[in-house]
Amino acid sequence: MGLIVQKFGGTSVGTPERIRQVAKRIAKRHSEGHPLVVVVSAMGHTTDELIALAQQVSDHPAHREMDMLLSAGERISMALLSMALGDIKVPALSLTGSQSGIITDQSHRRARIRRILGDRIRSALAEKKVVIVAGFQGVSETKEITTLGRGGSDTSAVALATALGAERCEIFTDVNGVYSADPRVVPSAILWEKIPHDLMVELATRGAGVLHPRCVELAKQHQIQLCVKNTLDPNESVGTVLIQRQTGDSSLGMEEFGIVGVTADKGKLFIRVKLTRSTVLGSVWDRSAEAHLSLIAPVFSNHDVSFYSERDGESDWKKLLHDLTTEGFVQSYEIVSDVVPLSIIGDRFSQDGRALHEIIEVLSQAHIPVDSGSSSALAVTLGVSIRHVDDAVRALHAEFLES
Ligand code: ASP
Ligand code: MG
Repeated sequence: MGLIVQKFGGTSVGTPERIRQVAKRIAKRHSEGHPLVVVVSAMGHTTDELIALAQQVSDHPAHREMDMLLSAGERISMALLSMALGDIKVPALSLTGSQSGIITDQSHRRARIRRILGDRIRSALAEKKVVIVAGFQGVSETKEITTLGRGGSDTSAVALATALGAERCEIFTDVNGVYSADPRVVPSAILWEKIPHDLMVELATRGAGVLHPRCVELAKQHQIQLCVKNTLDPNESVGTVLIQRQTGDSSLGMEEFGIVGVTADKGKLFIRVKLTRSTVLGSVWDRSAEAHLSLIAPVFSNHDVSFYSERDGESDWKKLLHDLTTEGFVQSYEIVSDVVPLSIIGDRFSQDGRALHEIIEVLSQAHIPVDSGSSSALAVTLGVSIRHVDDAVRALHAEFLES
């Protein structure tokens, strides 16, 4: 039987009781004969608590030390889960990212996985052990512990599935799967049984939260079978499967999807940059790429560029833009933390220019001011004040997904 990689998020391992439940679920799959690699997140809000702790001892904690601190969260859950499995007589071994041979670049707090050695994982699997791997972390070539960015355990799981040639990767979380909007904001949100990779990449990069964007890109690139399921659903009766669009499956008409979601990303903020010359635009791109800071929905006009990026990267952006100003590339810049991206995702926009107009119309009827907007083949993204964004999501969802 083929190898399965399973990943359990923070809520799934949030309490000792939940850890025991996860152990039972793993035991069941193990008894069916599947070799298993299980990736875990830190328990509950551990990562947030560790960040808060760091802020109490330092105003500017060094990124390297943050990685040393934050990687401890996943070490706790991997060890506890392995103990719980031992208790119910399932042979298990826990490994850190570094012990698993997850080699990353040197970029602390936002490292990218370069390759996975996986020797210790393979030999433990050969001994019929369930291997528990700490998510969200790796080690650089210079033997420094790194972390992959918030939500990065999903990416650990898909990267392991790729490297180990797994049959599939299952992400267990605290919701039933991928919805057309955050169900806490829109209770009538639709749960998708299937969603194509390309639309899922858009949903994830624009704030859908349920999957780390990089894990979806990886799954798409390496054709990993990826699904999202609810840990609290013992029968695994519902969930979302990511699909290749060109599978030749005629039941999945190319144009069947239309609009699949409305997202708001409160973890992002808006940045406006005035360049000294339009030809220096590349400098902003190069520096942000070096720091692995994302640049979502960029808009250019003449010497100006604006985009969204990670809220927790604000101090890195300040430093980067300050440096570019000193070096004569940037004339001025503004970081607008009140404005967040609101997006409508679907495959309707490339053929249908009216969509942007309709969206603005709906928002103006709901008296929601829009800061700026941009549109691509699979998404329209608008800047909306964080105070109005939930109302905006509800208004757009009602218009485009409920009628
Ligand atoms: N524990 C990390 C976080 O909270 C990574 C993850 O859960 O995926 O961001
Ligand atoms: Mg997550």
